[in-house]
Amino acid sequence: MSEDICQNLATVKDRIAGACVRAGRDPEEVRLIAVSKMKPLDDIKTAFDCGQLHFGENRARELQEKMEACDEEQIQWHMVGNLQTNKIKYMVDRVNWIHSIEKKKYLREIEKRASRINRTIKTLIQINISGEEQKGGCEAGDLASVLEYAQALEHVEVCGLMGMATFVEKGNAEAVRPQFQRLRQLRDKHRSYDSDNIRLEHLSMGMTNDMEVAIEEGATMVRVGRAIFGERNY
Ligand SMILES: *Cc1c(COP(=O)(O)O)cnc(C)c1O
Repeated sequence: MSEDICQNLATVKDRIAGACVRAGRDPEEVRLIAVSKMKPLDDIKTAFDCGQLHFGENRARELQEKMEACDEEQIQWHMVGNLQTNKIKYMVDRVNWIHSIEKKKYLREIEKRASRINRTIKTLIQINISGEEQKGGCEAGDLASVLEYAQALEHVEVCGLMGMATFVEKGNAEAVRPQFQRLRQLRDKHRSYDSDNIRLEHLSMGMTNDMEVAIEEGATMVRVGRAIFGERNY
């Protein structure tokens, strides 16, 4: 069955709006990142034609290929997957946001590459909120030292925190509410950081199965794949 991507986008926006109503929030505060990993460029173009501007990918090569093949300049590209130092060079010339900073060395590499082409990259520090090693992210206790390192950089902005909760089936999202709460508390604790390039406004949390709970807990970016593009075939 082929997906009706425009209809799916409308449904996801309704879900976001519903969660905002329950939380007393303005839906304008919640940005939808359409996670298009493993989906063809045509699906991205379809979503773009329906008004979607933010797209996320989780692999450096796939992100690079799609950014190069897609000539829509209004699109904002988000890297949301685990990084490797030697892959950062494939994204710096086009990517707008990198959500998955878990080590100072990634910041150092982004600074080095972005300074050569005089770009500034917006980043989020990924925190391991689930306790699962394969999900990546640094420990909450490491955040202060990562921010201290970042404040000396000139081509990197730190705009918030990102977290990936434990996978839950749809309908069980309540179980991960405490993980989102902890991320928000951590963000609030470091929010008034006295540096021009560090402003922890954003909370990137919530996916297809748990976006409502994430929004109730303060998400400003939700990263949604399957609810927009359909199931992925591995
Ligand atoms: C795949 C992915 C998503 C989207 O997950 P869905 O369940 O398809 O909504 C969000 N964030 C990251 C980091 C991902 O890898």
